[in-house]
Amino acid sequence: MARYTDSVCRQCRRENQKLFLKGDRCYSDKCAVERRAYPPGQHGQGRIKFSEYGLQLREKQKIKRTYGLLEGQFRNLFEQAERQKGVTGSNLLSMLERRLDNVAYRAGFANSRAEARQLVLHGHFRVNGHKVNIPSFLVKKGDLVDVREKSRNVARIQGALEAVKRREIPQWLELDTAHLSTRVRDLPARDDITAPMEERLVVELYSK
Ligand code: SF4
Repeated sequence: MARYTDSVCRQCRRENQKLFLKGDRCYSDKCAVERRAYPPGQHGQGRIKFSEYGLQLREKQKIKRTYGLLEGQFRNLFEQAERQKGVTGSNLLSMLERRLDNVAYRAGFANSRAEARQLVLHGHFRVNGHKVNIPSFLVKKGDLVDVREKSRNVARIQGALEAVKRREIPQWLELDTAHLSTRVRDLPARDDITAPMEERLVVELYSK
């Protein structure tokens, strides 16, 4: 499967925003956005004026990169969001949030979504008591996601739980640190997503 192999910090600098792709480093003064707050490349420090299309494209790239998806996966999710009732942009964000790798990250079992994705792939999580190793699995209201018994001492999970105090656990998840589990209280609504995202621009881009 295709994979992004370049520096992930370049992605943040390109979007001129912290996308929190690297865990601990993102909260330190080593963060590349803090140190070089301009886009990468030879012309990064020049004046950049975006066209309407450029703005839409950048927003789509930013959201896609935040959740660590490739173009095909992101487009598929958008098409599913379009088929649902309600506002397509909000549906899209809600589905991105409901991915199992995102839930593991949001609940504090991993330091970044990339790490959460790897932990899910390695079979460290269960949903309602069943092992699930599919990062794109979408959780539903009432689901219980927990760390498997034999994975409870995995250093990366323990390390992430130590570091989670720096992050806010979203309201739609109910964390139980004693049992290393989280219950999906409700489906994530638009207001639950506090990172700056203008999903309207993605809808405009894909509707051309
Ligand atoms: Fe982005 Fe984190 Fe790198 Fe900062 S340290 S540029 S937030 S990935």
